[in-house]
Amino acid sequence: MTRRPYIYADNAATTSLDSEALDAMLPFMKETFGNPSSLYSFSRTAKRALQNAREQIAECINALPEEIYFTSGGTESDNWALKGTQAKHILYSAAEHHAIINSCLALKNSGKRIKKLLVNQYAQVEAASLSCSIKCDDLVSIMMANNEIGSINDIGLLAKIVHGAGGIFHTDAVQAVGHIPIDVQALGVDMLSASAHKFNGPKGIGFLFVRKGIKLVNFMDGGQQELGNRAGTENVPAIVGMATALKNNCRNMPNNAEKLSRMVCRFQKTIYQAIPNVTWNGDPANRLPGHISLSLPDISGESMLHLLDLRGIAVSTGAACNSKSTRISHVLKAIGLSRELSKDTLRISFGANNSEADALTVANEIISMYKKLREK
Ligand code: PLP
Repeated sequence: MTRRPYIYADNAATTSLDSEALDAMLPFMKETFGNPSSLYSFSRTAKRALQNAREQIAECINALPEEIYFTSGGTESDNWALKGTQAKHILYSAAEHHAIINSCLALKNSGKRIKKLLVNQYAQVEAASLSCSIKCDDLVSIMMANNEIGSINDIGLLAKIVHGAGGIFHTDAVQAVGHIPIDVQALGVDMLSASAHKFNGPKGIGFLFVRKGIKLVNFMDGGQQELGNRAGTENVPAIVGMATALKNNCRNMPNNAEKLSRMVCRFQKTIYQAIPNVTWNGDPANRLPGHISLSLPDISGESMLHLLDLRGIAVSTGAACNSKSTRISHVLKAIGLSRELSKDTLRISFGANNSEADALTVANEIISMYKKLREK
């Protein structure tokens, strides 16, 4: 029996490693393994690679190289941005990732004032709601794109409101970096979190952009790496892989966005024709490329996930980090989706490695599993 190829449609959870990124990483695990902080010539290649990677990443988001701090990923970047500031009052949106929500809860336990901002039906923070809540010296953290339903926030406008009130603005851009154009100057953000494994880089590496002049307390104490702000010997191979993957993703962004938009159209049209009472979640006009969240009435998302898995298709019921939990997603709750429909929700996130044929296969398999489950 020939096995059907597996269709991976959960790119919001993680992505495959860019082969050019892997090629760029290998020499730093083999021949040029030196510690970039060492003084002898053998380590100079690693030191130079680190600087090149910092410059490449900075260029991709229009930052200065010295504004890029390497971290272990999105979770660390988010923790550092929130726990490293001196702000006494922190505002965050109800649709944030748990890296932000749980950091805020930890800060609350240590005496900081925190406030959750409500979101609209697309999980976006509206300007009016932010304007009413912000005070001078507040730190505001609002994600650029939502990991469960893909909606994109108007970050430029929100950052302007925060600055107008004298606050600092952080955005968790983990789902957005490498997928939509980002210019930190045009957006006016003070801090931005990113994670390489979401844009075809390796896992366990990311960065935090910190605008020059923004003061952050060290997250890791130790040596003088990262301008003395984040101690620990740098993971040179992963950093080089991250920079290569980001550069490639940014270069291919327009083509990928067009291809992904065709896939989403094809998928939605096919599903809609067979299941007209489907609910689509997320902002139809402002969503991450390739990202789809749908709720199929009376069909458990988890049952659908397992049936699709048996058919060789990987999708998610919500955020990747929640996939073992049966708790209703806080994002779906925040957008006002009923408890029943929240349980019936699937997240499909196509990537550049998928084809239109994949999109059609996934849609047809969902339709056939839907009919099967309805019959039961
Ligand atoms: N923020 C968002 C929006 C995410 O989607 C994720 C991961 O799913 C994270 C933060 C955490 O990133 P990492 O997996 O690199 O720790």
